[in-house]
Amino acid sequence: MATQPPEERIFHGSPVSRGIAFGPLHISGRGFSAPDVYAISEAAIPLEKKRLEAAFELTREQLSELKERIDDISDGDEGLVFEAHGMVLADPSLQRKVEQAIDERKQNAEFCFYATMQTFLEGMRRISDPYLRERTIDIEDVSQRVLRNFQADLDAVLPDHQHLLVAHDLTPSDAASMDRSKLLGFVTEAGSVNSHTAILARALGIPAIVGLGKVILETTALAPAILDGYSGKFIVYPSETTTAYYQALAAKKEKAREDLDKLRDQESTTVDGHHITLSANIEFIHELDLVRENRAEGVGLFRTEFYLLESREKRSEADQTAAYTQLVQQTRPNLAIIRTLDSGGDKLSTEPLTEVEPNPFLGWRGIRVSLDRPQFFKEQLRSILRASVHGKVGMMFPFISGLTEVRACKALVKECMAELEEEGSDFDPDLQIGAMIEIPSAALVADELAKEVDFFSIGTNDLIQYTLAVDRINNNVAKLYRSSHPAVIRLIKMTTDAAKRAGIWTGICGELAADLHLTPLLVGLGVDELSVGPRELPGVRKALLSLDFESCKKLADEALTLPTSAEVFQLSREAALAAYGELIEEGS
Ligand code: PEP
Ligand code: MG
Repeated sequence: MATQPPEERIFHGSPVSRGIAFGPLHISGRGFSAPDVYAISEAAIPLEKKRLEAAFELTREQLSELKERIDDISDGDEGLVFEAHGMVLADPSLQRKVEQAIDERKQNAEFCFYATMQTFLEGMRRISDPYLRERTIDIEDVSQRVLRNFQADLDAVLPDHQHLLVAHDLTPSDAASMDRSKLLGFVTEAGSVNSHTAILARALGIPAIVGLGKVILETTALAPAILDGYSGKFIVYPSETTTAYYQALAAKKEKAREDLDKLRDQESTTVDGHHITLSANIEFIHELDLVRENRAEGVGLFRTEFYLLESREKRSEADQTAAYTQLVQQTRPNLAIIRTLDSGGDKLSTEPLTEVEPNPFLGWRGIRVSLDRPQFFKEQLRSILRASVHGKVGMMFPFISGLTEVRACKALVKECMAELEEEGSDFDPDLQIGAMIEIPSAALVADELAKEVDFFSIGTNDLIQYTLAVDRINNNVAKLYRSSHPAVIRLIKMTTDAAKRAGIWTGICGELAADLHLTPLLVGLGVDELSVGPRELPGVRKALLSLDFESCKKLADEALTLPTSAEVFQLSREAALAAYGELIEEGS
């Protein structure tokens, strides 16, 4: 039976990690994903049919058990859904069709089952009745269950080949544990640009698009696709013309990247000689290779929560000391800023919470957790102190809302220093102590904080969220998340001014630091350091090399008088286009 090639389909979402990726799709989660396929011999055909029968039988048993369990706990007819699922399998013609496919294709039973169901689902998806189309979810669900019942090990249904992943949503820990050799890129239905999942995708260099809306039901496992992490386009069944366009674009991007690489040994200094320290944000120690390759002038933010919480075992003080020492040794003679645990929000939690927090971003997060768990916190502080003898260390506290927290942190640091002295361990008594400015209250009392610390690092990801009351991971309000909002830039200016009065320095380590449209504005607002993901370093370096500090200061003064984010953005974008337009148009 001849089939027509499926038509190209284009979905639009928010690009969160640049790059172009080509590959077959793997659909995760609720969807129905392809199992591995392999050829079988004539003699193995009866055995494969037995495997099919066994998987069907096990699925029927599970479904009737599920129905009973649900019937026991509910008075409604919720259990009927499992009866409906069971009916899909009760149809004897389905089993016959799969058996026929095994005979003809001479391929493993699970793949023949998958291919049979896929043809059926394709037909259902073309039905215009929305109710019937929605029923594909039930069929996918029961099909997925049958597939799983072919294997004892659930992980075995994950593909063993290179693929583009389609998922409803991914957690930061999903992103952290992805196998980079198999995963070419990912797209999600939900998600937003400033979530930690997106930050991790950028850190790992995985092209990604989030917030695509309903896409799982509209795509088919193994379908060829192109992910454009620059524009946010996700193209399934691309035409030959589209494929050729993207192959040329990928080559052009690669060439632009190579051109930027040529600048990597240049200091990040403006044309009129004003130096801005360009450092890197990392989540994993292994990223230090990339940091070195791209010649960062230090580590401006090491997010220790991924290191501390990714392992099931608690990290001992000795393990922590070893990890931080490695970071410090590999970063010296430059400064390595280690941020103490920032758990909570959308990240992993230090301990299972007994109840779900109603507002996690306003809840038990960051320094609040550490100060409530001083023994655990002190293990981290002593480890950082021990590492400080091996190079130049900054110790930074997240989620500071005011002076009391900074003082409490410093008191604990003092206690730790005394303990280390007593046991005869070395540390650098003059290590730099910094506060993150990521809650508006901290920016408003920056004058007070500046007297207590050696530096500020502005966490714009959170500062924007808390200033504008826009959840950084909620796609429904993503358009309200405006980095150039007049309130945000005034808070940044208050912070840099307070720092200057006290003679300390200010950096920015939020994602805004890598937004090339706004580099002229940030430089003009008086920040001394920009800390960005290692892959963003070349672009930001080129931007800094192209700017004039005095003009940036004038631009910032003017921006501070403008009433809307759009006007501020436009002003800075024009200066950016004039200085390094090719970089912005390239989207690199
Ligand atoms: C920030 O809030 O800008 C920041 C750098 O911290 P995180 O993204 O880890 O919350
Ligand atoms: Mg933050």
